[in-house]
Amino acid sequence: MKANISCPVCSSDESAQIAHHVFSSEGKNERTNLLNKLYRDHFSPAGEVAVKECENCGFIWTDPRLSQEDLKLKYRLISDFDLSSRKGRPPHLPERRARTVALSQQLLTNKTNARILDYGGAEGYLLSPLIDRGHSGYVIDYIDYPKEDDRITYLGNDLQAGPVLEEPFDLIFALHTLEHVSDPVSVLKELATLLRPDGKLYVEVPLGAWLEWAFLREPLTHINFFSEQSFAAVAQEAGLHVHHIDSVWQYVTHLRKTACINMVVGKTPPAASVSPLTTRQQKQAFSQGLTPLMIHPRFYLKNMVKYTTSGPV
Ligand SMILES: [Zn+2]
Repeated sequence: MKANISCPVCSSDESAQIAHHVFSSEGKNERTNLLNKLYRDHFSPAGEVAVKECENCGFIWTDPRLSQEDLKLKYRLISDFDLSSRKGRPPHLPERRARTVALSQQLLTNKTNARILDYGGAEGYLLSPLIDRGHSGYVIDYIDYPKEDDRITYLGNDLQAGPVLEEPFDLIFALHTLEHVSDPVSVLKELATLLRPDGKLYVEVPLGAWLEWAFLREPLTHINFFSEQSFAAVAQEAGLHVHHIDSVWQYVTHLRKTACINMVVGKTPPAASVSPLTTRQQKQAFSQGLTPLMIHPRFYLKNMVKYTTSGPV
């Protein structure tokens, strides 16, 4: 754990503190209470977190910066709770599968027998319909969850565990993973080493630059808050090319849709360059138009008004 570090994405020393939180209150849900207690017991007795924004690449992160070892300790301490509270299939799985199958078919350009890795893929829910289409599916995840079906191959709990890979992958998913890791650039670089020269990496994160960092409930789950600008910067720092990036309200694992950034990267340049939205644009309280007010009016209206009138700092 380190304080006052340079930007974890681009290494710039130019950053501003944009929020400060103290995680000491109780009475929220059980998992939030547990994480807040773990944070105070192991990382900061006062439960304090600053939120910083890089003035160069627009990346937003929590400080003190948790190291990969800190996060491994957290996963060790929370995994029993998470495993025991798993409640079967997440809601809206058919919609999510329809989206990832269509995207995969487009990225695999009619390839058959493709090798697909889901990094952070948990039970492998997104792989089964692709295996039905003749592809093979692999998962790397910190917990070896019971798999959706026995055709999914579990390769281990992290990239450092180094599964011996006999051949690279045609397509790699990393969905809702990079907002949790200490060094997102290194993770993308390591995933790229597992990718074929013409393969594609599909990465998806919450649009954390919009409000989330200002209304953080606990300090141990999300430590990175991306905009399209800073997410594209991660890919560029990892030596990869952005083929597609956009921000969409879609289903993840919750009942309601959430704002996500979807990005496709590869080892070769795209036919046409893409233009990510900036952190400055996406940080605006009303950057999402009316969509959040249709999805969860009370929650978002309260936060948007609070953010606009008093600010989070
Ligand atoms: Zn930066």
